[in-house]
Amino acid sequence: MADFYVVATPIGNLEDVTFRAIGILSSVDVILCEDTRVTMRLLQRYNINTPLLSYHARSGAAKTTAILSLIKSGKTLALVSDAGTPTISDPGSELVSAIRGTFPDMKIVPIAGASAVAAALSASGLPSSDFLFLGFLPHKKGRETLFKEITASKRTVVFYESVHRAIKTLTRLSELLSDKRKVVVARELTKVFEELVVGSATEVLAKFTAHPDTVKGEFVIMVGSEK
Ligand code: SAM
Repeated sequence: MADFYVVATPIGNLEDVTFRAIGILSSVDVILCEDTRVTMRLLQRYNINTPLLSYHARSGAAKTTAILSLIKSGKTLALVSDAGTPTISDPGSELVSAIRGTFPDMKIVPIAGASAVAAALSASGLPSSDFLFLGFLPHKKGRETLFKEITASKRTVVFYESVHRAIKTLTRLSELLSDKRKVVVARELTKVFEELVVGSATEVLAKFTAHPDTVKGEFVIMVGSEK
């Protein structure tokens, strides 16, 4: 039985992809991807002509069944997401679980590469030997509980944030965190407007409030531990 590949792709800069990922994406029969237009840009950059099949957060059980049938018929598949490592705050874990359940002997192979959480932490200067990753904070229910958890955390805390909520989140952090706690916001990593903003929550908030033109793109927010 062929292997199933879970392939990390760039988080911005299209050169941040491994030789192995390019080899796998070129050689499989089908690539499962979230948005075919996004993945097409990567494939065109590396002259890859592999057919795409969409698999995203709203793909239901029928899509999973269709994918399992493809595997059964002997096709080799790779799963990618729009950016970074599939299944990390992205779709895919249910599919991987279904594949493992249906084909227990099948090898599921991670093709390691970029992920925003690792890239952000690596340049943050915050202690990273262990950390708490929260993915996206919930919009309503449970949000305040997580803010309390972040405030009390003895570990560095990392989470993803959308541009629409970044200011609101930094405002809440500035209300809860002492000025001794370090906050790092990593924005647009590996892209033209990449920046890392470091300071207390109040200082980081003040920077973005003073420069609203920089409240754009993709954000990772990191909070140093309470020690
Ligand atoms: N699976 C992806 C990974 O491994 O990084 C994460 C997917 S999640 C749907 C998208 C979120 O990741 C964005 O909202 C942002 O918080 C973060 N992200 C992705 N690319 C980024 C970048 N270039 N710079 C900063 N944050 C990024």
